[in-house]
Amino acid sequence: HGKDEAEQGLVVSHFGVAVEVLFETGERRMVKVKRNSGHVVGDQVTVSGEVLTRLARRTELSRRDARGGIHLLAANLDVLGIVLAPGTPSGFLDRAIVAARAAGLAPFVVCNKCDLAEAEEQSRATGSVYGGILPIFPLSAATGAGMEPLRDYLRQGHRGAFVGTTGVGKSSLMNALCPELNLKVGALSDYNWTGRHTTTVSSLHALPGGGELVDTPGFRDFGLVDITAPELAAWFPGFEALRDHRCRFNDCRHRQEPGCAVRDEVGSGTISEERYLTYLVLLAEVEALEEAAQRRN
Ligand code: GDP
Ligand code: ZN
Repeated sequence: HGKDEAEQGLVVSHFGVAVEVLFETGERRMVKVKRNSGHVVGDQVTVSGEVLTRLARRTELSRRDARGGIHLLAANLDVLGIVLAPGTPSGFLDRAIVAARAAGLAPFVVCNKCDLAEAEEQSRATGSVYGGILPIFPLSAATGAGMEPLRDYLRQGHRGAFVGTTGVGKSSLMNALCPELNLKVGALSDYNWTGRHTTTVSSLHALPGGGELVDTPGFRDFGLVDITAPELAAWFPGFEALRDHRCRFNDCRHRQEPGCAVRDEVGSGTISEERYLTYLVLLAEVEALEEAAQRRN
């Protein structure tokens, strides 16, 4: 290659001061970047000499921390695997689904630890509410039971990541899907990256059968990012059917408004009281963010 010839590539690892780029030729090379350069795993780039140029992103997955700071985790993901296991707080799934949809990612659910009776029960309950809404994979990362349908799903060219609270088995799942990974299981802090001397922020792994996974250390829970109240109502799972203006008011937030179709569904039991309460918590969160944004302007 001539020095000025731009090559297209994909950012597959991020080391803070450098990124690893996988080029279309199959070659991998480290390219220096400034700290906080804004490049993340999944970014499509052109490299010309030492100059890295980022192409437009299809999707962005971000996390909002407790202080309201927004951290971009990965770019150009297609799917988000929401991992559940016994002990996952109620409301986590609905929050994660809304966040995935808001980011333009298709959510799917992994019910892990199905070797345990409690987890089997959880996966049945999850299936009865969410079965028609998104793909659900009941499995056990520990025994390997039920892994094949998930592999098939990811093989369809999907690029994804897993989210779930600590201990649900995200590392175990990543290890089961990409055997060369060897992430530390049961680690309470961020992953240890073995086989390299530098700590990575995150990296993208091609799966043996097809598909790609990004492991995003420390990505357990997330606040909602950049979402309006009407978007929340449109993306909250189970409210989809109510989008077509069945509430009396077009801008109904499904709270106290008269003639609210969502509240009717809650009354008749189609939407559970518990999930409606999750919606109200998310609505309050979104409205607080909107108010904070207005105060800044
Ligand atoms: P993470 O915090 O989400 O990355 O979870 P880990 O992968 O570190 O797993 C947390 C704990 O759950 C470890 O003790 C694992 O051995 C255990 N674990 C993971 N998958 C399974 C499973 O399918 N069944 C059972 N019974 N335990 C599991
Ligand atoms: Zn309503």
